[in-house]
Amino acid sequence: MGHAKVISLEEFRQARVRAEVRQRLHERIDRWLDTVEGRVKGDSPTLERLTQEVFAMRHELTGIVTEALVEQSHGEAVEQQTMPCPHCGRLLRARGPHSRTVETMVGPVRLSRPYFYCLRCQEGFYPLDETLQLSEHRKQWDMQKRAASLAAEVPYGTASDLFSELTGLSFSDHITHEVVGELTKGLTVLSVSPTAEEIEQKVAQVAEGRKWRPILVLAIDGADVPTRPETAKGRRPGRKKKRAKRARWKGQWREAKGFRFYLVTGERIVHLLSWHQVQSDEELAEALRQVKEAGLIPKEKVRLCVIADGAKWIWKHVKALFPSAVQILDYYHCSEHLHKVASVQYSDNPEKETEWVEATLTRLFCGEVQAVIDGLQGMEARDTQAAEEIRKLIGYLTNNQDRVDYGFARKGGYPIGSGGIESANKFISHVRLKRSGAWWYVEKANQMLALRCAKYNGTFDRIFEAYRQRVGQSPRRPAL
Ligand SMILES: [Zn+2]
Repeated sequence: MGHAKVISLEEFRQARVRAEVRQRLHERIDRWLDTVEGRVKGDSPTLERLTQEVFAMRHELTGIVTEALVEQSHGEAVEQQTMPCPHCGRLLRARGPHSRTVETMVGPVRLSRPYFYCLRCQEGFYPLDETLQLSEHRKQWDMQKRAASLAAEVPYGTASDLFSELTGLSFSDHITHEVVGELTKGLTVLSVSPTAEEIEQKVAQVAEGRKWRPILVLAIDGADVPTRPETAKGRRPGRKKKRAKRARWKGQWREAKGFRFYLVTGERIVHLLSWHQVQSDEELAEALRQVKEAGLIPKEKVRLCVIADGAKWIWKHVKALFPSAVQILDYYHCSEHLHKVASVQYSDNPEKETEWVEATLTRLFCGEVQAVIDGLQGMEARDTQAAEEIRKLIGYLTNNQDRVDYGFARKGGYPIGSGGIESANKFISHVRLKRSGAWWYVEKANQMLALRCAKYNGTFDRIFEAYRQRVGQSPRRPAL
């Protein structure tokens, strides 16, 4: 019976605290409403005018509601008097309370909480901050996440402008840079890839009700990225003015090598995963190897095919990693090569030029690559330039003989064009990186590419959570 009485006392205490918090909240809300009323008094305000004022003031309201909720759900941490030092076990007494204002998507939240300092270990603690899992930044995780997401789509300056326009809150491009840098630190292909289960689920969805295993395409290609050299970094002392007038470095176009896995069903593409970086072909092959070894590609459940242009390094890695995949030379790249020959060989006869390209493509389509090669060998070159182009095309078709059987590919339902990777190049790389006047340090370009891959692979939430865990658990600076 005594036990029951203790519980009801505790319940009584909690109810009292709750009532007090409520009471204070109601008073603050009343004051808030008074302020808003004062601002719209006298006019016959339109709805727009009313919402404008409420919008301008709403963060104050949602902020104070949040403060009340913190008080209510963490009363103990707010009123804590002692704590043992987590390192040496000494009992520490509360100092303060100290107040700290953090910024969140619902506005500024003011926290008043005790502070503990261990003289022996020379470290300070705010138990409430730990409980609430606060970010050390004044801008909290919810704002950081949205700012990073926005910066993945538009330039940093625009992201910052949009942020404040849409939310009424400020988030500078400088801090966004910082967050993106930290968020993308150490990302690899596997950290931005969906899990094997997620991929298998998509495969199963596409396979449902179909007789044949779905076709899974691996497309590999490069996209041009405007880069600036490392030497453009920093300022040399005394030359600031001169540097401001004219950049002393030269921009350079470099290739972001990337790959994309996707499912093809009829005309539709189901995206699985993309990975694009300014990187060497060995690095790209290494990323592919990781994808394969992590078991992300359900080989038994799909028909795997690889589409790429004629670059030898690509096929070397493909053969080593996916020896049983159907290999297809991208149709459009192939026809570009045909056009090159035709334009020099028939430079005086555009009609003949078109006719030859179409006839040759048709023959490739019918699986007559050997006949095309024979024909090229028998061709009488118009001049030395034409001879050179013909020679190159013969080499190209000979090297890729098994990859240009477009008729066979079409019959099997395989795509023959690498439209899937072209569009990935566009929506992952070009859309964000190729902007007038934008030249990227390779490191920054790769950070942005990794971030965009995560977004389009559907793993942005996951990488943000990993960042939060990592940064949130890093050793704290001694608190002031
Ligand atoms: Zn201690």
